[in-house]
Amino acid sequence: MDEDGSVRIAVMGVAGRMGRMLAEVVAESDAARLVAATVRPGHDWAGADLGEATGGARSGVPVYDDPLEAIRGADAVLDFTTPEVSVELSVLTAQARAVHVIGTTGFDDAQLAKLAAAARHAVIVRAGNMSLGVNLLTILTRQVAAALGEDFDIEIVEAHHRMKVDAPSGTALMLGEAAAEGRGVKLSDVADRGRDGITGTRVSGHIGFSAIRGGEIVGEHDVLFAGPGERVILRHVATDRRIFARGALRAGLWGQGKAPGEYTMASVLGLA
Ligand code: NAD
Repeated sequence: MDEDGSVRIAVMGVAGRMGRMLAEVVAESDAARLVAATVRPGHDWAGADLGEATGGARSGVPVYDDPLEAIRGADAVLDFTTPEVSVELSVLTAQARAVHVIGTTGFDDAQLAKLAAAARHAVIVRAGNMSLGVNLLTILTRQVAAALGEDFDIEIVEAHHRMKVDAPSGTALMLGEAAAEGRGVKLSDVADRGRDGITGTRVSGHIGFSAIRGGEIVGEHDVLFAGPGERVILRHVATDRRIFARGALRAGLWGQGKAPGEYTMASVLGLA
């Protein structure tokens, strides 16, 4: 921590869409100070000053392509990169005792196990979606799924911009997990991910996923409960990607001094 009590933050993958936004949100915060940033090895910005690299005035924030350099002086690491990179970083942040906020999505089971291992020694806050609204939607989804029972079919429909590489979105999977939890079942046993051709009639109790990709859609999620004679739709629409960056910063501040473990945004928001 700084002498004035500011939490020292390092942003990973600062040249990315979320990375740039994280750097801006941290720079605007009174509670935090951006101390370093990283780019992938060989990127043009490696060795530069972040302000100058982004076409502005000198900021005093160094950009490294070696994550160790950046993590060394940080209390919290904000990481929206790739699953492979986030898993590697989790080892370094655990060694450095820095809070690791992971916004990256698309982890497989083996990678999740490695994150869980790192969380034995470090504070990890991981969420497929770091917005307050979506985390509230998740809690509501769990409650509604528990209340309505199996004669309501659950479908999760999500829409994102054309650059997104994984489907369903991390948020859609998070909502699916919440619905499955509400019903007391395992998502992997009931998930229908993508239907095509003669699929047969819908299996009762399954949770369906559909993904729309196009343009610059920031992120939209509907959780549809379709029952006999009525439907309930829970909807979240994101219009500004800063909601994710603000949530990530809040998680980095919240994690200071917490016991090692893997936390979600529900904990950060006091809703766990
Ligand atoms: P992006 O491709 O624009 O950014 C990723 C950045 O990581 C790139 O600039 C890439 O060069 C950089 N990178 C790759 N390897 C690196 C390394 N070894 N060291 C440092 N940087 C490295 O993607 P994006 O849209 O910013 O999304 C990034 C991730 O965050 C995705 O998994 C996305 O799904 C997720 N995301 C999560 C949330 C959330 O709220 N949890 C919100 C938006 C996006």
